[in-house]
Amino acid sequence: MFAISPVQPMLFEQRPIFVKRDDLLHPDFSGNKARKFYHFLSQDYAHITQLVGSGSAQANSLYSMSVLAKQQGWQFDYYVSHISDFILQHPNGNYAAAIANGANIIEVGQLKLADKYQQMHLDDVVQCIVASDYNNKNSLLHIPEGGRCEYAETGVAILATEIIDWARLRNTKALKVFLPSGTGTTAAYLNKQLLQQQANNNSNNINIEVLTCSTVGGDDYLRQQFSQLVAQEYFPTIVNDGHKYHFGKLTQRCYEMWQTVCQSGIEFELLYDPVGFLVLKHYLQQHPHWDGDIVYVHQGGVLGNQTMLPRYQRKFGHSNKSEND
Ligand SMILES: *Cc1c(COP(=O)(O)O)cnc(C)c1O
Repeated sequence: MFAISPVQPMLFEQRPIFVKRDDLLHPDFSGNKARKFYHFLSQDYAHITQLVGSGSAQANSLYSMSVLAKQQGWQFDYYVSHISDFILQHPNGNYAAAIANGANIIEVGQLKLADKYQQMHLDDVVQCIVASDYNNKNSLLHIPEGGRCEYAETGVAILATEIIDWARLRNTKALKVFLPSGTGTTAAYLNKQLLQQQANNNSNNINIEVLTCSTVGGDDYLRQQFSQLVAQEYFPTIVNDGHKYHFGKLTQRCYEMWQTVCQSGIEFELLYDPVGFLVLKHYLQQHPHWDGDIVYVHQGGVLGNQTMLPRYQRKFGHSNKSEND
């Protein structure tokens, strides 16, 4: 269904690393959302006519789900807590592309729901709405926010196989695989699959460690997310650089890191990758003698830059460095 994504070398902090280009998996399905939703493309879902999802109005998963729904001919309802006036007046990026694919984006705040829903997490509100307002349950597919569900493992297993195959060909002895986490679904299943697939294979095992960092809610929250998906023996290693990152917050450090890594000629995305590279930089500074291979997984999402880059430019200008830096 997808071709094997290429691995390309890149110089980062004066040392070579490798970028697993999952952003190139498919023109319409990018990155880890393509991996996470692969299950729904590869299995028979002929009985489904309607998809329900939820999350932010600019999420990469909104766009990927809209592609999935369009390809399968499903009606698609997507619930958001709130849509900013700016995005309503200047639709672009994931939001505009999803609407062009026929997504029906519903603002929960406009639904005049009972008070008890006000305190609930969006995912739980949508669970209730699905239970009460949709009567075609057998033909309905509800994917939780960010694709945080067991089905995500099917496609992430293929990513794990591709990484092991690549490392074997290179005769890699020791490998660190780095990827920034949102829900942690990709990192948790990737680590589990790398460990299991190697255990099931009798040839020489490569010493592989999955490193990830939190971009939402901190390390404890991320560990808690892992625990809902995999056994503790499969938890990836969480690394941080001492900063607390707030999801979607525009900072000069993130903007500059993004500009630096984009000089490689590879376009990265602006929500997760700047945090990922800042933490990876810190990790490399802490481990100067580590000389195995490093693979950074590019998880796609660059369509979202259409929304994020103008926001950064309005805040910090177009220049490479701030004047009072
Ligand atoms: C969704 C997404 C993530 C986070 O993936 P999780 O599996 O939720 O941890 C990271 N990077 C990009 C570009 C994404 O779109």
